[in-house]
Amino acid sequence: MDTCVVGGGIIGALTAHALAQKGIEVQVLDAERPGAATPASAGILFSIFDPTGEGAWASLARYGHAAYPKLCAGIESEAGFERRGLLVVGMEAGQAAGWAKAQGLGCETLSPSECRRRFPQLAVPEHDVALLPEVAQIDPYRFMGAFRSRLQDAGVRWEAARVSGILQDGDQVQGVRSGEQEWQAGQVVIAAGAWSAELPEAAEPESPVRPRRGQIVAWRSVEAGNLPIVLDGHRYLVARANGEVLAGATDEDVGFDTDVTEQAREELTSFARRWCPDLLAAEPDAQRSGLRPAGGASGPRIGAHDRIRGLFFNTGHYRYGVVCAPGAASQLAEYCCP
Ligand SMILES: Cc1cc2nc3c(=O)[nH]c(=O)nc-3n(C[C@H](O)[C@H](O)[C@H](O)COP(=O)(O)OP(=O)(O)OC[C@H]3O[C@@H](n4cnc5c(N)ncnc54)[C@H](O)[C@@H]3O)c2cc1C
Repeated sequence: MDTCVVGGGIIGALTAHALAQKGIEVQVLDAERPGAATPASAGILFSIFDPTGEGAWASLARYGHAAYPKLCAGIESEAGFERRGLLVVGMEAGQAAGWAKAQGLGCETLSPSECRRRFPQLAVPEHDVALLPEVAQIDPYRFMGAFRSRLQDAGVRWEAARVSGILQDGDQVQGVRSGEQEWQAGQVVIAAGAWSAELPEAAEPESPVRPRRGQIVAWRSVEAGNLPIVLDGHRYLVARANGEVLAGATDEDVGFDTDVTEQAREELTSFARRWCPDLLAAEPDAQRSGLRPAGGASGPRIGAHDRIRGLFFNTGHYRYGVVCAPGAASQLAEYCCP
């Protein structure tokens, strides 16, 4: 086996795909841990909390924006790929327009009455708002299900296993182990999300990845019509064609605790009803949490370990792992196979 990818979230899956496309034999090992970020994620394909539109997050997000239509070609509806657009209600329309421009996206300014006309299911905003019509979304949980057959077709092998150590010969990677079982590989990619700093051999004390819990509430069977993604400060609504509407998300420093809380449910529900009082009048049907892999403020950790040859990282994508996954995977594949 050429390369073993530790972790089968969206980062591990797209990394495996990018490596396989370069002709590399790939094995993914995934521990199926409760609290993984990808299945909990909203799947907005835009770096929504990065209003500068510059730096590492923004360039990876631009790459993702362009890459997803191709990745989802033929599986759009299974993957929940939709281009509903993003309505920025919690920011001056002019500022949002600059933000969109920096990301290479178009932007329309809507007056409160125009917003009412276009989106009657939404409360009327107090000032002009910005609509970024090109912003798309996926349903990450369903995307992962649909994408597995692409990985199979590309020859990627996938097994459930919790990796407990890296095999080394001197400073060269030889593979990984899970308890008594071993997989030989010339290269190992750590893509274990919030758990990426757990393997002692791979730990990098200067930039450890740590968990940040995000909670979301969801309604099912809502007739949301053409409701776009609605962004108001650090809260958002996401509607899907299958009738689901999400309100997200918290950002909590509670270690590996994956519980959901009453406080989050109340806050997110009341935010959702501020914007869709009639549509979301019922109690939410579901609440879930995921542990985001938080790393450095300037961007994710993509590249080689500084001492162990053949060991690579693709982790620390924090709030933007879904939109950044295609770009991060492509960069990592270049490091592994220049
Ligand atoms: C509520 C919420 C909303 C979000 N919304 C968005 C959004 O709208 N847009 C966006 O771009 N991003 C969003 N994110 C962020 C995004 O979900 C994450 O950045 C991304 O999913 C991280 O992917 P990952 O593969 O690194 O981690 P994960 O999805 O957590 O996957 C890591 C995998 O590694 C496995 N693993 C762990 N340890 C081991 C081990 N020792 N051996 C083998 N396998 C192991 C786990 O089982 C897991 O499957 C959101 C996150 C949350 C929580």
